[in-house]
Amino acid sequence: MTDPKGLITYTEEGKLLVPDFPVIPFIEGDGTGPDIWRAARLVIDGAVSQAYGSTRAVRWLEILAGEKAFEQTGNWLPDETLELVRTHRVAIKGPLTTPVGKGFRSINVALRQELDLYACIRPVKYIRGIPGPMLRPDDVDMVVFRENTEDVYMGIEWEAGSDTARKIIDLVREDTGREIRADSGIGLKPISRTGTRRLVRMAIEYAIEHGRESVTLVHKGNIMKFTEGAFRNWGYEVAQEEFGEHTLTEEQLYENHAGTVPEGKVVIRDRIADAMFQQILLRPEEYDVLAMPNLNGDYMSDALAAMVGGLGMAPGANIGDGYALFEATHGTAPKYAGQDKVNPGSLILSGAMMLDHLDWKEAADRVRQGLLKAVEKKRVTYDLARQMEGATEVKCSEFAETVVNSL
Ligand code: NAP
Repeated sequence: MTDPKGLITYTEEGKLLVPDFPVIPFIEGDGTGPDIWRAARLVIDGAVSQAYGSTRAVRWLEILAGEKAFEQTGNWLPDETLELVRTHRVAIKGPLTTPVGKGFRSINVALRQELDLYACIRPVKYIRGIPGPMLRPDDVDMVVFRENTEDVYMGIEWEAGSDTARKIIDLVREDTGREIRADSGIGLKPISRTGTRRLVRMAIEYAIEHGRESVTLVHKGNIMKFTEGAFRNWGYEVAQEEFGEHTLTEEQLYENHAGTVPEGKVVIRDRIADAMFQQILLRPEEYDVLAMPNLNGDYMSDALAAMVGGLGMAPGANIGDGYALFEATHGTAPKYAGQDKVNPGSLILSGAMMLDHLDWKEAADRVRQGLLKAVEKKRVTYDLARQMEGATEVKCSEFAETVVNSL
């Protein structure tokens, strides 16, 4: 498909239409961001070129956010950046510094909320050869769908002693008779039916499309009944209402199918978050797609990434209806800025997720294969080299070249 402007479009049926030469905005990021972005771009371009010759290519467009944006425009997240992501629909970013005490809670959180990127998706799969803490890391193959726009993590909170905190404390006393200490800070934890249903819907659609066996709703509903408990209930509700033919509950699985998942079906079940932290360590092979509210998802995604060797190799994406932002999951690692040193694996694998999203699967598979082979060759960055026996430490850019040469 050709389009001189390279615009990706989104149909009413929820399908992306991608031209052969799409314009894709990128934010290179702060600190080590420019190093890992250069590396990731080299790999993505190399894979696309290998897969499609001269018939397809990404036309990159730089957009500004973070320190570079602040230096050039006086704004950490210029409106133009948001507008360009809206226009082009798919974008990729390196890590951004969270300016401390400068008005923004976090540029990342702002991007997710402004663009309504309601699902943070983190696939966690072991890459053979990466040093990690698990005895059987091959058993780990999960995809986390973390709600991105609600929960206490949204940061709607008031300082202890502030007018609003006092008013809320008074209101709670008057309406419910319950006492909150007068010197308490107050935070809100909204979890809505709308927000939950669209997140769980996306997780179930993913499970069906990718032939996954289960979607587990992870919550703390035993204690927080009207927020996390409601998340669980609304999750089951959307599964039953919209995917009844494709899904069954755990109860139905044991009652009607002796515990064996019928071909083409997805089991919907739920687990309490604290128990789930044990489960992912003790019986990871039993878990597949996970859907959870924001804060649980924050902790669990990083815990899962650690199980397969850490954030240096963990890809991520923030996805909404018609918009997607792919990103490195680690921070800016500022002490290594400009040293061409850190591991670009996370952003490279996020690039593979982006290619999947464009439905450029051949290129996406090449990126993943190339990375796998580079690790097999044991030519890796310092973080992996210091833990891998017989490894050669290479620079960030050299690692990217090894991946490209292994595509
Ligand atoms: P960080 O930047 O992730 O770095 C912490 C440590 O993790 C590094 O010192 C390094 O450990 C290791 N590390 C991180 N990325 C690596 C990579 N690509 N390759 C190898 N090792 C890597 O966390 P932070 O120091 O807490 O945060 C720094 C800034 O990043 C803050 O402003 C924070 O707000 C921001 N941040 C942004 C995002 C985002 O944009 N999505 C996410 C998290 C944090 P060693 O020194 O032990 O080797």
